This record gives sequence, C-alpha cells and structure tokens, in this order.
Amino acid sequence: MTAFERYDAVVVGAGFAGLYMLHRLRKLGLSVRVIEAGTDVGGTWYWNRYPGARCDVESLEYGYQFDPELQQSWSWSERYAAQPEILDYIRHVADRFDLRRDIMFGTRVDSAHFDDGSNDWRVITDRGARYQARFCIMATGCLSVPTWPDISGADTFAGETYHTGRWPHEGVDFTGQRVGVIGTGSSAIQSIPIMADQAAELFVFQRTPNFSVPAQNEPMDRELEALVKANYADFRARNGQMQSAFGARHPRSEASALEATEAERQRQFEHHWQLGGLLFLRAYGDLLVNPEANELACEFIRDKIRSIVRDPQVSEKLLPDSVVGCKRLCADTGYFETFNRPHVHLVDLRESPIECITPEGIRQGGQDYPLDALVFATGFDAMTGALARIDIRGRKGVALSERWEDGPKTYLGLQVAGFPNLFTITGPGSPSVLTNMLYSIEQHVDWISDCVDDLRRTGLTTIEPAVEAETAWVEHVNEMAGMTLFTHCNSWYLGANVPGKPRVFMPYLGFPEYVARCNEIRERGYEGFVFG
Ligand code: FAD
Ligand code: NAP
Repeated sequence: MTAFERYDAVVVGAGFAGLYMLHRLRKLGLSVRVIEAGTDVGGTWYWNRYPGARCDVESLEYGYQFDPELQQSWSWSERYAAQPEILDYIRHVADRFDLRRDIMFGTRVDSAHFDDGSNDWRVITDRGARYQARFCIMATGCLSVPTWPDISGADTFAGETYHTGRWPHEGVDFTGQRVGVIGTGSSAIQSIPIMADQAAELFVFQRTPNFSVPAQNEPMDRELEALVKANYADFRARNGQMQSAFGARHPRSEASALEATEAERQRQFEHHWQLGGLLFLRAYGDLLVNPEANELACEFIRDKIRSIVRDPQVSEKLLPDSVVGCKRLCADTGYFETFNRPHVHLVDLRESPIECITPEGIRQGGQDYPLDALVFATGFDAMTGALARIDIRGRKGVALSERWEDGPKTYLGLQVAGFPNLFTITGPGSPSVLTNMLYSIEQHVDWISDCVDDLRRTGLTTIEPAVEAETAWVEHVNEMAGMTLFTHCNSWYLGANVPGKPRVFMPYLGFPEYVARCNEIRERGYEGFVFG
C-alpha cells in the first residue's frame, strides 16, 4: 500500500472556490494539493456546457475581486456572460496565477478521515492516491451533483441521453431530431429556445410550471464597463451591502407592493421586468415575506405569459401557481415565445406523470412520444450532495452522513462540530446560493485563510465549532427561513427535489449581516469555536 503524501492542506474541487483557496493558501506559504474530478478547472462552468448556459448575475459582478489588476484586465462581451466565456475566464485565472501545477485532475476524492492520533486528515482518491494534511477544505460546490430521476425503463432508451449538468464537451447537434426535455428549471429554460432552433420536434415534459423573467441580456455596454472599472472597489463595496451581493446598480425598493395603487404597481413591475431576470424581485420590499404582495407579482408574470403565448391552452399550462422567488427565479431569453413555434410541444405532467421510458421514447398519459434524444434538465442534489458522496469521518470515526442524518448541521456554514480543521466553502448554513456566489466564495476563502493563518501563528493545532454554537446557528438559520416565503414550495433549497432527503432549508438568509458576524466572531477570538 502506498504511503500518505504529506501536505499542509488538501482542497477538494477546482471551481471558483477551490482555485481561490489554493491561491490564498499558497500565499501563506502552505503546501497544497487540490483534487478535482473533472479534467480541467471550472467546476460548474466545466460541467454545464448545455446550449444557452450563462450566468444570471451580471458579468461585471460575477468575477473575482481579490486582484484589482485581474479585474481591470478582463473584459466581458455580454451583460450576462455565456458558459464558454466564463470557462475561458476561469482558465485565464488558473494560468495567470500558475494554479494548475498543484491540481490533480480527473481524480475523485472517495474518503476523508480525521486521524485522532496525528490530528491530520487522511484523504484517499479513486485512483488510489493517498494524502495526509492538517487542513481539509471542501470546495466541492453547491450544485455539482446532477440528479437523474428514477423513471422506469430509463436505461432501455435506445437514443442518446444527456444531463444538462454533464453536457458533452464536443457539444450536441440536434438538427433534424425529435428531442424530449424533462424539467423546466433554470437549465431547461435557458436551453429550450436553442434546442428548439435545431430540433425537428421538441417535447417539453413539464411537472411544475416555473416563473421566468427575460434576462434582457445584451452586448456589454462599454460606457458602463468603463464607469465601473474606474471605481471597481466602490462598486464591489456596494455589492457587499446588497441583500444578495449583486445588482449594485439596482437596489431593492423597500416599499410594500400592497400600499401602491394598481397603476403604480404595474409601472413598477414593468420597470423591473425590463431590468430583467433576478432584478424583477427588487420591485418591492415585501415580495418574499408577504404572500399577498407575492401573489401580485405572480399575477403580473402570469399576465406576461398569457400575452406572449398565443395558444390559450398552452399558456394556461405554463402558468405557475406557486410563490415567485421561492424557487430561484429563472432568467431566460425567449423561453415562453418558444411555445409559439409549431414544432415545440408542451406535455403537462400534472395531468398525468411519465409512465415509463421505452427504447423508443417516453410514454405518458397512455401516449407514446417517439424520441431520438432525451435531455434530463432535472437539477442537482444541492448543497449536501457532493459532501454526502465522500466518506467523511471526524473524531472517533463518526461519519458526517450520520451527523447530518436529519439535515446538515454547521456553524456559519463553515465548519461542523467533531470535524476539526474541516472547512466547507459556501457550506449549508451560509448565504451561498442566495447570493452572488463569487462574493460569498471569496468571503469564505478569506475567512478560512485568516483562520488557518491565525492557528499557525498562535501554535494551535485544531479548530472546530462548539456543539452549542452549532446548535444555536442551525436554529437561527431555520428561524430566518421561517420568516419568509422560502419554505412555501418544494425547492432544492429545502432538499425537496431529492426523494428521501430531509426537508431542511439549507442556505442562510442573512446577507450582508452574515459577513460582519463572521468578522466579529474572528475578532472575538473565534467565539463559538473550540481549539485543540
Ligand atoms: P463548483 O463550481 O461546483 O466546483 C466544485 C468542483 O468540485 C467541481 O468541479 C467538482 O467536480 C469537484 N468535486 C466535487 N466533489 C468532488 C470529489 N469528491 N472529488 C473531486 N472533485 C470533486 N451562481 C451565481 O452566483 N450566479 C450565477 O449566475 C450562477 N449560474 C449558475 C449556472 C448553473 C448552470 C449552475 C449549475 C450554477 C450556477 N451558479 C451561479 C452557482 C455556481 O455553482 C457558483 O456560482 C460557482 O460556480 C460555484 O463554484 P464552486 O467552486 O463553489 O463549485
Ligand atoms: P432545477 O431548478 O432543480 O429544475 C429541475 C427541473 O426538473 C424541475 O422543473 C423539476 O420539476 C424537474 N424534474 C425533476 N425530476 C423530475 C421528474 N422525475 N419528472 C419530471 N420533472 C422532473 O434544476 P436546474 O434547472 O438545473 O437549476 C438548478 C439551479 O442551478 C438553479 O436553481 C440555479 O441556482 C442554478 N442555475 C442557474 C442558471 C442561471 O440562470 N445562471 C442556469 C441553470 C442553473 P419540479 O419543479 O416539479 O421538481
């Protein structure tokens, strides 16, 4: 058996989080080994190459801010960058900071065990490599494990099968094909209009109609870019004061939708519809806390759908009946318009679910839909999925899966009691997916780096949360979610998309106060943490 190769830190994942973590730890003089399942850097943007994939946070905000020169030198071509450009950017960062030499690609971490004797983590990969390190940092991503629904006969399908989160690198040409898409989440809504351009016939299998607002994507406004670049630090600082760390140019109105007149409301909603995408939810301050206010926004979007989709039977089926913003609002380019095309068909699974997949296609409601290709746009085992797929064991061999049997428990989304020196970047219990992820990733990486540095300078060996601090934090996370409408639908935030997953609201609704809290905790000598 090969011996354990020693490093100061092991980082799992080479997306935005893993790359910046490597950069920071190197600056502290630590030896680092990064392990990445993909064959290159990029994470989300390496795996999600489906047509139409792009960010829903403006490009000028969806990038690193740690290096002013990088920020100045990079130029985005669109208001919302598409996947190839974001991947180019991440590759550029990897080259610019010479990061690749410390990354082991094409390698999956199978296990990470804390060794009580040495106070080190022992990490083993699927290729048999063995690493031992004082710090183990999970940069494994919130949306990195695709879910394939358990539909009978799925493995019998004779045509090609794809998942949006595992798209072939060489791309797919659907020209002349009959294509089926399962799902109507963000990934489906971005890709359907483009797949419709190619396919001879496109069948959209919709279980839950979704809210979507046009992204209003456009070529980068060079004047705006110059303006932002002239004072990027200020722009970023304003981002840090926003509730979700993006949209610095469009702060949320604090007014109540219920107090406006009908005409004012229509104007305000229309203005925010024109701003596009996630900014729609900034129209009023109470949209995500007051069901009546929310319903007004829902009705505005439903009216838009009715006005866009010409066939009233189809538009009726596309009308979402839940709470807008409860699931992540989708940002599209021509999604609803696509249903006006004669070769695009909506199959409503609420009338009758998919019975099975056959070698020829999908059977639903007693009807067979012959298909050449089937696209699963069915989402991810979010926030805990990647961690659950690693055999992680803390003190005395206790498994993380056991500790998290009833849902994830962390302190600040950064650490777990009983798992010393294990850090989770944008882990459950942190603002993560409710914010501009780039901002939250950098904030976590900076905090973890400072913590590692503090430990080394003070000669301490381990840090982990006190159980009481962790318990109080978990309660606080739930309490915050309970004050909003986020618990009023079956979203992946709640784990509701994965059969058997405990129904717990996983991200923390408390940005930007969260950042100040993390800083204060450190300033007070890591309040709530214990050292070894
Ligand atoms: P990831 O990019 O997911 O990287 C994690 C890496 O860890 C992956 O490469 C994975 O292969 C690797 N890994 C996991 N487990 C293991 C293991 N056991 N062994 C080895 N390697 C492992 N966020 C926004 O803020 N704005 C957006 O516009 C936005 N758009 C998105 C669009 C899509 C299609 C998706 C899926 C997500 C989007 N997100 C967006 C969220 C996005 O995930 C984050 O913005 C960000 O890219 C996450 O970076 P990360 O490094 O934390 O995780
Ligand atoms: P998703 O939002 O979870 O959507 C999955 C879709 O698949 C849902 O419509 C779901 O229906 C459907 N589905 C799942 N299992 C099914 C089954 N057995 N039968 C029929 N339908 C089924 O996943 P996603 O679209 O990949 O997006 C996930 C997240 O990634 C987003 O919320 C967002 O945070 C991020 N993302 C962002 C962008 C962007 O705009 N930048 C783009 C893509 C992804 P139900 O609703 O009924 O469960």
